[in-house]
Amino acid sequence: MKTRTLKKNKVNIVTLGCSKNIYDSEVLMGQLKANGMEVSHESAVDDFNIVVINTCGFIDNAKEESINTILRFAEAKKDGQVDKVYVTGCLSERYKGDLKGEIPEVDRWFGTRELPAILKTLKADYKAELIGERLLTTPRHFAYLKISEGCDRPCSFCAIPLMRGKHISKPIEELVIEAQKLAAGGTRELIMIAQDSTYYGLDLYKERKLAALMEALAGVDGIDWIRLHYAFPNGFPEDVLDVVRNNPKVCRYIDIPLQHVSDDVLKSMRRGVNKEKTYRLVNTFREKVPDMAIRTTLISGYPGETQKHHEELLRFVEDMRFDRLGVFTYSHEENTHAYLLNDDVPADVKQERANEIMEVQRGISYDLNQARIGHTYKVLIDRVEGGYFIGRTEFDSPEVDNEVLIPVNDSYARVGDFAEVKIDDAQEFDLFGHFTS
Ligand code: SF4
Repeated sequence: MKTRTLKKNKVNIVTLGCSKNIYDSEVLMGQLKANGMEVSHESAVDDFNIVVINTCGFIDNAKEESINTILRFAEAKKDGQVDKVYVTGCLSERYKGDLKGEIPEVDRWFGTRELPAILKTLKADYKAELIGERLLTTPRHFAYLKISEGCDRPCSFCAIPLMRGKHISKPIEELVIEAQKLAAGGTRELIMIAQDSTYYGLDLYKERKLAALMEALAGVDGIDWIRLHYAFPNGFPEDVLDVVRNNPKVCRYIDIPLQHVSDDVLKSMRRGVNKEKTYRLVNTFREKVPDMAIRTTLISGYPGETQKHHEELLRFVEDMRFDRLGVFTYSHEENTHAYLLNDDVPADVKQERANEIMEVQRGISYDLNQARIGHTYKVLIDRVEGGYFIGRTEFDSPEVDNEVLIPVNDSYARVGDFAEVKIDDAQEFDLFGHFTS
């Protein structure tokens, strides 16, 4: 007979995967706290008796990490260290039917849109009036803002629509209230996230409203930076570029996963764009907002990708000189359209191609960073570590982009403050500088 722990009711939330999962965990924590429950996020101390694991089911590596985390807590339950193990998020949404039998220690599996059910199971009430209230897991000076849920795109390789459902935009008014509450709590930077942020408004307002939303959020007192992630190339609303160029509170930064450039591969990926359109779009970015930092993500080793297609992609990276770039190796995901194709690129070739792209990008990033030496930038201080104040310019998003390092003996700054920093040196992915004020 499994004994109950003697610990008082405390819920520990564990988040895997992307910023959208982080956002969902923060909302769940906000609801639990509002119900007077003790809650922690990825608690390092073993003082909780209930764990909720918010999983990722995107690609192989992420799925493996989620499974291992669930198994770790299943073991902890068998050892009597925790009383209840609950699993939610994308992996659960996608595979709970299979996993239920395989990991019986899990007390209940929830989908990606079952917040009220999770709360009920934890003997808490869902409080609809808590619009925009959440417990931040990020440093309070920056916060993710999820502007919509789900995705209506048909990208062949992607399982996200299977896990997150159809695209649903949040009303502008609700997002402004959320931004105001965050600003009141000390947030200075808002990072707009979605599965496809450029689709924003098409469902709710029957027109693209991303530019209007960015303007509305930029009008919130206390918010200094608005940053755009997860844009989509097909049907890109160019009025967004006018907002980026003209509104000083909107970072000259865009994250737009392009995935590939070869016509054959883009066609098979069902991206709705081709090589010519992709080049034209990035060139339009450069013309309309010359100093905007462009982040993109590419996939290497997609079914049918030949050496020639790969070389086209390499040339694209050399031509476009992206400021920030990440590469995923293709993951053959069941129930996606691409799963019907032959996953014919060997794993080592996928990885070799990804490494080759990152090697080219390393050189480009070094050159672009070298060009920043001698210039002064507004830097948001994120933390103090290893004898440095560490921060970011408006051209860098947290966790994924470059950082600015300032020796702590140089001067003084508070985490969460902006400071003027002159760049003295640069490496591939880091800048070094000193405070000028
Ligand atoms: S837009 Fe993004 S989330 Fe939507 S299907 Fe395409 S890759 Fe997946």
